[in-house]
Amino acid sequence: MCPLCNVDVEHLLHVFFDCRFASECWSKAGLVYDMQRVEEAPPWLLDRIKNENFETCELIAKVLWGIWFARNQKVWEGKNITPSVTLEIRTKQIKEWQEAKKRKYVLNTVIRRYDRQEDMKWSPPSRGYFKLNVDASVVMGDSSYAVGMVIRDDRGRFVQGKNMRFLGMVTVLEAEARGVQEALKWLEELNLRNVTIECDSEGVVKAVNNGTQYYLEVGHVFDWCRVRLGSRVDFSLCHVKKQKNQLAHLMARVQCLVNCYNVFLSPPELLLETLSSDYSV
Ligand SMILES: [Zn+2]
Repeated sequence: MCPLCNVDVEHLLHVFFDCRFASECWSKAGLVYDMQRVEEAPPWLLDRIKNENFETCELIAKVLWGIWFARNQKVWEGKNITPSVTLEIRTKQIKEWQEAKKRKYVLNTVIRRYDRQEDMKWSPPSRGYFKLNVDASVVMGDSSYAVGMVIRDDRGRFVQGKNMRFLGMVTVLEAEARGVQEALKWLEELNLRNVTIECDSEGVVKAVNNGTQYYLEVGHVFDWCRVRLGSRVDFSLCHVKKQKNQLAHLMARVQCLVNCYNVFLSPPELLLETLSSDYSV
């Protein structure tokens, strides 16, 4: 039986049109349905939605939603709601939804504008400089973690890549810190000058550059990196968004045995697509 009237069997057309609760809702909203039989309700409804203005369509949605809400309140909560009250609640919720949508729209445009300014793609270093991107890969529950590094020149060309895998369960911060440390060691091995190091962990970059934060597990790594960086005026460490660090991210995921490393003199296949799309900047 229909829980709202207890008169008829509850089926879709009854609940939304035939029931006296439904017809009261429609008329309270100022909408009179003019079909002869209830079977004509679906095409009538679709026709209205197609041809009426936005306000009327909103009203139709409000009535349908209100009826459904009142029906569920009765069935699941045992509460009786009058047609006026259910429509009032809908009006309030629609207003709240519209406000939320407006806020989201404003937020989205701000973010989009910011993204466009920032340019989400990797950018080559200034003339005569190299750029090393470094990233770590930590998988929850794994007993090892990896770091990946890629060096490119001022024309975006792949110079060298390296990835390493270490034993141990670490936090992302620890792994990222290790990545920067390994990057600095590698640069010294290669005897490379004029390098900008990019890392997408803001925490690591801030801790190394400012030395203000104290981290128990990685404090000594930060200190080590700060000393090395301090002794090289031609090196710098910057924070970048993940999107700009994609190549190092992939490099960290290239297969590597635990406690081993790979050096790549040409880019591994996994990196080719990102490398060429970065280069096309
Ligand atoms: Zn009914």
